[in-house]
Amino acid sequence: MSQTLGYAALDPNSPLAPYSFSRREVGPNDVKIDILYCGVCHSDLHTARNEWNNTLYPSVPGHEIVGRVTAVGSAVSAFKVGDVAGVGCLVDSCRTCSSCGEGLEQYCENGFVGTYNGPAFGGGENTLGGYSDNIVVDEKYVLRISHTDNLAAVAPLLCAGITTYSPLRQWKVGPGQKVGVVGLGGLGHMAVKIANAMGAKVVLFTTSPDKREDALRLGAAEVVVSKNKEEMAAHVNSFDFILNTVAAPHNLDAFVNLLKRDATMTLVGAPAAPHPSPSVFGLIFKRRRIAGSLIGGIAETQEMLDFCAEHGIVSDIEMIRMQDINEAYERMLKSDVKYRFVIDMATLKAA
Ligand code: NAP
Ligand code: ZN
Ligand code: ZN
Repeated sequence: MSQTLGYAALDPNSPLAPYSFSRREVGPNDVKIDILYCGVCHSDLHTARNEWNNTLYPSVPGHEIVGRVTAVGSAVSAFKVGDVAGVGCLVDSCRTCSSCGEGLEQYCENGFVGTYNGPAFGGGENTLGGYSDNIVVDEKYVLRISHTDNLAAVAPLLCAGITTYSPLRQWKVGPGQKVGVVGLGGLGHMAVKIANAMGAKVVLFTTSPDKREDALRLGAAEVVVSKNKEEMAAHVNSFDFILNTVAAPHNLDAFVNLLKRDATMTLVGAPAAPHPSPSVFGLIFKRRRIAGSLIGGIAETQEMLDFCAEHGIVSDIEMIRMQDINEAYERMLKSDVKYRFVIDMATLKAA
């Protein structure tokens, strides 16, 4: 066992605070990583505060991890000491079901093991995530990082990047298409960059008019303030695909009505409370669809990292100290993130 320092929530109402625990010994297939940077996902906040009613305490969030390999097990072939490596949202799955067989570990029929809040297979302890100084993960679930610099800005790709890349690929977004992205936060700003790099014309929907210039800089061709009825009306029946990243319940019909016949709006935002029920008429008259998508599998996460390295895509980040995490959560709730907080894990020792 190795001693690990982290930040944990002990219950839904207390701020995150320093927390010591141990990681398992490095097994034959394991890679041990000293964590350099960890992105702050809105899912971390939902989990720390038990907003999905499934949190196992103590909870150490964090699933956008980039660090340096410090030890490898005897059977590890893909990584060596000194490599830069990444860990995303999942650290294990059953490896035998049909979804695992297709590289879709996030849809594992037996339940994948989350990087945090995931009960380990065999009734092991709750997994503890990346708000910590090191992590031990089976090499099959560790990602190669080919970006050579700005590693802090690479970290958010491990969740925000793959969660948006996967549906954009699944719904075959590409040149000649008009694609909407709803919400300019961590996921939304990655979706704008990636959809733009895939060749689509991107329209960004926001509730924050002051994000307009940023959205254009990030790659949106047009920005629509979703509270403005006239701006919305100009886009009725015109979208090939919409990716909705909003973290709070809202009226979905306003966006469904912007889809063309047979087009889909995919939800990746996971609000604590349900959206108001969408109108059936908005769906049946144009055979429109509402779908969902969960993170991405390991192979696709690697594909996304390589795609982003090739296209020079990283996240726009604001680096914070570990001690600032509770304040960062409050700012996230006010949609005041430009556009992802990343924790500099070197500050953990000072905490
Ligand atoms: P975030 O950085 O907080 O961004 C969410 C954005 O949603 C905000 O920046 C804001 O954008 C918009 N928004 C917030 N409240 C709103 C409201 N009341 N009405 C309309 N828009 C609102 O969060 P994130 O890290 O990108 O995560 C977004 C959601 O995705 C969270 O629920 C998270 O748990 C979920 N998630 C899901 C998956 C998955 O696998 N499906 C993976 C990761 C995260 P504007 O200011 O532009 O309006
Ligand atoms: Zn996440
Ligand atoms: Zn499986």
